[in-house]
Amino acid sequence: MEGSFTKAKGMEFPRRILAGHDALEGLPQMCQDFQLEGPALVVTGPTTMQVAGRTAADSLVEAGYDVHIIEIGPATMDAVATVKTAVLETSSGFLLGVGGGSKIDVAKLAACELARPFISVPTSAAHDGITSPRASIKGEEGNISFDAVVPMGVVADTSVIIKSPWRLLAAGCGDVIANLTAVLDWELAARLKGEEFSTSAATLAKMVATQIVDSADSIKPTLEESAWIMIKPILVSGVSMSIAGTSRPTSGSEHMFSHALDRIAPGRALHGEQCGIGTILFMALHGGDWQRIRHALEVIGAPTTAKQINITKEELIKAMTTAHKIRDRYTILGESGLTAEAAERLAKNTKII
Ligand SMILES: [Zn+2]
Repeated sequence: MEGSFTKAKGMEFPRRILAGHDALEGLPQMCQDFQLEGPALVVTGPTTMQVAGRTAADSLVEAGYDVHIIEIGPATMDAVATVKTAVLETSSGFLLGVGGGSKIDVAKLAACELARPFISVPTSAAHDGITSPRASIKGEEGNISFDAVVPMGVVADTSVIIKSPWRLLAAGCGDVIANLTAVLDWELAARLKGEEFSTSAATLAKMVATQIVDSADSIKPTLEESAWIMIKPILVSGVSMSIAGTSRPTSGSEHMFSHALDRIAPGRALHGEQCGIGTILFMALHGGDWQRIRHALEVIGAPTTAKQINITKEELIKAMTTAHKIRDRYTILGESGLTAEAAERLAKNTKII
């Protein structure tokens, strides 16, 4: 037996997650408990500044921190460079990303590159990047995903998040529901290609996606509890990635389809909206219960047709037939992908077109 066991792996998680009503009030205490040394740099945007950036900054000032604020636009490498310069010029000891995905991604990558602690303060929940160790930055050919750090802390205030446009929350549900096909793809890759598989990560990712599908009827705009029902699955999706050490439990063929759409028809729809539609399509391809997924997305108010995400039949088919080339990740799309005929039939059968 000696020497037969060689497996080893590391897992990184956030140290604390505060979620729920008025969670933002706990931010200064969290920073103090982590013994973070100021100044603090709040990375936010013009809108999110009003929604939560100002409150976060004021509460840190009250707690005795020097605070600097930087407002940025979209998540680009330029924005990352601007934030890094600001960190160095202000000698900031830690960063807070206050906003939707882009502010968090930029702050996360800048913090990683400068080896500073990072706190994630989402003002919306449109995707599962809030707790993930990855940062999605806009490049010339669509978004590029970078390795970054897992946030040290996450503060998800449901009274803030419920005020974000409903479309964002509905998209977040799509991104979590995507775990259902991602896990099936991962199981397939484990069986066919011997890819390393984590049952605990897969079970967790699948469980939270099922929770969203099961509670679709109670996810409604205006109800703060809806933000609660969906924020937990989003946070746990991030945890499943930490356990797996890969995005496999939350990203499969449906994400490759969404990335293909980003290239073919950039800016038409939100990441989570595209992933939701991808989940309907490829759940059908896996022979699973796609009707239930479609129904849940419909009830939540997420798009379920190509028309609703402003893409033509041709663009849809192109994304479906090229999705397998997006990255070297084995999925139900196989090595050569779908033929145009098969893709069209699948899209029609699932009422996407
Ligand atoms: Zn996603």
